[in-house]
Amino acid sequence: MSLFVIYFGTNRRYSDLAHHTILFGRRFKGLLDDIFKGNKLPEDFSLYLHAPTVTDPSLAPDGCEALYVLSPVPHLGRAAIDWDSVAQKYGDAISESLEQHLPGLRQSIVTRRHFTPHDFRDELNAYHGSAFSVAPKLTQSAFFRPHNRADQIPGLYIVGGGPHPGAGVPGVINTAKATCGLVGQDFGVLAS
Ligand SMILES: Cc1cc2nc3c(=O)[nH]c(=O)nc-3n(C[C@H](O)[C@H](O)[C@H](O)COP(=O)(O)OP(=O)(O)OC[C@H]3O[C@@H](n4cnc5c(N)ncnc54)[C@H](O)[C@@H]3O)c2cc1C
Repeated sequence: MSLFVIYFGTNRRYSDLAHHTILFGRRFKGLLDDIFKGNKLPEDFSLYLHAPTVTDPSLAPDGCEALYVLSPVPHLGRAAIDWDSVAQKYGDAISESLEQHLPGLRQSIVTRRHFTPHDFRDELNAYHGSAFSVAPKLTQSAFFRPHNRADQIPGLYIVGGGPHPGAGVPGVINTAKATCGLVGQDFGVLAS
């Protein structure tokens, strides 16, 4: 999948905010089907709200919050969404729905920037604007994920969210660990 992400800063703090919040929408399986099997942008969404200033207030000026909210959306190979036209409206709908969790939010936003699947594609060079590299389905998990020692090109080793064991920062660090071991084996150096 890809993501639509809004980064925003507020000129006030929210006392009952958690560092991580998942806000489920009205649909579950239907929404997942639309994201993974559909060819258009669903009108509804489920959101992950990240509020790092809850843990480290120094990430924003005194009395302010720095947050981002992400909405999983189809990748660009699945749905040819014209993000340049829909991003502002889609972002506004997300901000409006966040008001239920953060009352008065829209009045308190002092800075806002969004990052669309086009940005994942163009700024990060992510295939089809994917946010987490290859999907972790059974045939692309564990041994079936791209190997850390490239199968076809001798001397090429691969780390990051795509190869084994998978995406996410702990996974990425483990790709480095696995790759270090392989390089050690191939070049007769013991990894410490
Ligand atoms: C919004 C969001 C939230 C996330 N939250 C979490 C989380 O809370 N916890 C967690 O564990 N994981 C999280 N992840 C996943 C995690 O960020 C990724 O799995 C991880 O960053 C992947 O690391 P990587 O090194 O493979 O790729 P990246 O971190 O994307 O790094 C690849 C870099 O290569 C650069 N690049 C691309 N093409 C070229 C080129 N041709 N030449 C030079 N440079 C190039 C890109 O610009 C980029 O800087 C999140 C991902 C997103 C998008």
